[in-house]
Amino acid sequence: MAAIIDGKRISAEIKEELKEQVAQLKEAGAEGTLAVIQVGDDPASGVYVRNKKKACEYIGIHSRAFELPASATQKELLHLIADLNADDSVNGILVQLPVPDHIDEKTIINAISPDKDVDGFHPESVGSLTIGQPGFVSCTPAGIIELLKRSNVEIDGKECVIVGRSNIVGKPMALLMLRENATVTVAHSHTRNLKDVCKRADILIVAVGKKEFITGEYIKPGAVVIDVGIHRDENNKLSGDVKYDEAEQKASMITPVPGGVGPMTIAMLMHNCVEAMTR
Ligand code: NDP
Repeated sequence: MAAIIDGKRISAEIKEELKEQVAQLKEAGAEGTLAVIQVGDDPASGVYVRNKKKACEYIGIHSRAFELPASATQKELLHLIADLNADDSVNGILVQLPVPDHIDEKTIINAISPDKDVDGFHPESVGSLTIGQPGFVSCTPAGIIELLKRSNVEIDGKECVIVGRSNIVGKPMALLMLRENATVTVAHSHTRNLKDVCKRADILIVAVGKKEFITGEYIKPGAVVIDVGIHRDENNKLSGDVKYDEAEQKASMITPVPGGVGPMTIAMLMHNCVEAMTR
């Protein structure tokens, strides 16, 4: 039976460390403010925004919420971002995604100053990660590295297979695992013999967006399995991209859903906000 990688405990540990760091930075005269922009009133986005606000309060930085109606134009949103870019009292800017269809997500991401890009989605942040320069790293993949390291999983020299190549999870995840000296394979919807590819993995990271897609048959005995997926059923019960009851029979370590990768994303957002404060 696999040991559980406890994201709830590890994220609490990180937030505790950040709280101390913020207190020290404040003593030295620094202040931290995260601007969170939400367009429209999508209920799921509302929950994420509230959780981010709570996390800011917990570690001791300010958050400023900007709630624009769903009818807000792209021009209005770009105007607000330009104001926040120029505002020295704001060190982090985040636009809660998704934005309504009439607004182009890429244009919005590109408008945020890379110095305040705490989500790590700006092309300059991604470019810096690619060539190993300092910059903000996308929160979910950064959180997975913390989960692995703080659970004493050796990454160096290991076979890592990542299922999924999205800009916010799969691709930055591959770059981070490469930085940690893993041998990295990125699988996607065109990959042939996915089962065989996954079975090569010492560390299998799944971000495929399909409920319980990865069954026990995809897992090498003793592998470490990281499940990024989040799916909510009609009874509000959460499950992941991995069939947990089968996977836990094969894996040596596994992240549960909920309580695995999920809590790490906000912890790493807070980490990026503290980094922004020190810049
Ligand atoms: P995307 O839908 O953007 O990407 C899914 C990826 O999976 C794509 O690269 C796609 O390949 C690949 N894929 C789809 N079907 C198959 C298949 N049959 N075989 C192999 N690969 C396949 O998802 P995200 O990366 O944004 O998210 C993935 C999951 O993680 C979701 O469940 C999401 O809710 C969750 N998530 C959780 C977070 C957290 O904080 N825990 C944060 C972000 C996401 P192709 O590129 O070829 O289409």
